[in-house]
Order: sequence, then structure tokens, then C-alpha cells
Amino acid sequence: MNANDYIKQAEKIEPEKAVRMGQQYSQLWSTSEVTCHCGTKIHFMDAFRCLYCGEFFCQRCAEVHFGQTQRDWMKQKHPEVLKQLDGEKMVEYYQKV
Ligand SMILES: [Zn+2]
Ligand SMILES: [Zn+2]
Repeated sequence: MNANDYIKQAEKIEPEKAVRMGQQYSQLWSTSEVTCHCGTKIHFMDAFRCLYCGEFFCQRCAEVHFGQTQRDWMKQKHPEVLKQLDGEKMVEYYQKV
């Protein structure tokens, strides 16, 4: 699915969403930023596009839209890595204090 396919799909399912996505795609094209439906502006490197519907989201809204948080996913799929990452954060924290 490319950008136009996603918009065409949205027009059939939820016209308001199609308008929103049209704005997101043209904004992205001209500014490299995208505004999430919650109003948060995000650089495209930090934005999340849904594989299914094609709308862009900030991380918080993406977690709601996708049904679980990034942390929950890590906990399920890679608990050992999550533990390591948390450990590194703690080390960084103690080094700063
Ligand atoms: Zn979606
Ligand atoms: Zn958002």
C-alpha cells in the first residue's frame, strides 16, 4: 500500500480520517513533520504509521492504536533485553548523581 492507496481506503471507511491523512501526507512532504490527531507535532523519524490504516501517530497515540505499549511488547518478546536496558538506565542515572 502506498500513500494514495491508504487515502483511497480511508475515504471508503472513514472520510474524516481520509481528510486528516491527506493533510498529514502533504505536511510531511513539505515540512518533514507530521501532526498526530491529538495535536502533537512529530518529526517523521519519530512518527509511527499504521501498517493497516496508514495514519501517522505520536508514540502515545500509536500505543493506544496498536493495542499495547512498546514496553509491554518488549516485556512479552524480549524480557531479557528490557532488563538490560533498564539496568543501563539505572547505571546512567547513578553516574549522573
Ligand atoms: Zn491503523
Ligand atoms: Zn498523538
